Amino acid sequence: MTAASEPPTAPRSPVDRAWAELVAAARRTVADGLVVGTSGNVSVRVGELVLVTPTGVPYDRLTDAEPVAVTLDGRRALGTLRPTSELPLHLEIYRTTAARAVVHTHAVHATAVSTLVDEVPLIHYMAAALGGPVRVAPYAPYGTEELAAHTRAALADRSGCLLRNHGAVTYGDTLDQAYDRTAQLEWMCRVWLTATAVPGRTPALLTEAQVADTATRLRHYGQPD
Ligand code: 13P
Ligand code: ZN
Repeated sequence: MTAASEPPTAPRSPVDRAWAELVAAARRTVADGLVVGTSGNVSVRVGELVLVTPTGVPYDRLTDAEPVAVTLDGRRALGTLRPTSELPLHLEIYRTTAARAVVHTHAVHATAVSTLVDEVPLIHYMAAALGGPVRVAPYAPYGTEELAAHTRAALADRSGCLLRNHGAVTYGDTLDQAYDRTAQLEWMCRVWLTATAVPGRTPALLTEAQVADTATRLRHYGQPD
């Protein structure tokens, strides 16, 4: 086939591109073992729209052609599927932070730790990637404004928190960043549970000053732009 006879590929809009990334991230939460079934939800902000996973739909059934979007005040803007039940929580984060993407999971270690402490102990310097000691938001039923309010309070000066007896929430400037923070938080909870499970020993913890120092260093982590 010559180049001239190839079907033209329409340039994808920012919404279509963001939706494709959202679907991929939602599927990854299952593949990475961060959720089971249709638990958890993912959202991305594109201008004044928020793209969200639909409630109760297995992520492998989502198609690139059917984005679900709402406005910042929660009105349905795109798609026929009902948005995630955690819409109040996602919208509260967009209204009160600079978030461009939000990831909510029921990751095993994060959920276990949410039942044990009010704040994730400073077991590792990567707490700095979440803005400092990660708080646990008090329990409230899923999908409620009450849970959204608890989450907002727990996220003050942080980019992630745990939800008691429920799971974890992180946000970021991009979906990749929000996802990476979820993975780091889950890993950190696993490290703490592993260390605290050693009989007769108590793990050494870092100070807030040591974690704050790491936050400064992390600004220069990786390759130069
Ligand atoms: P949704 O299927 O409505 O997104 O709910 C899953 C969940 O994790 C609720 O907290
Ligand atoms: Zn949930």
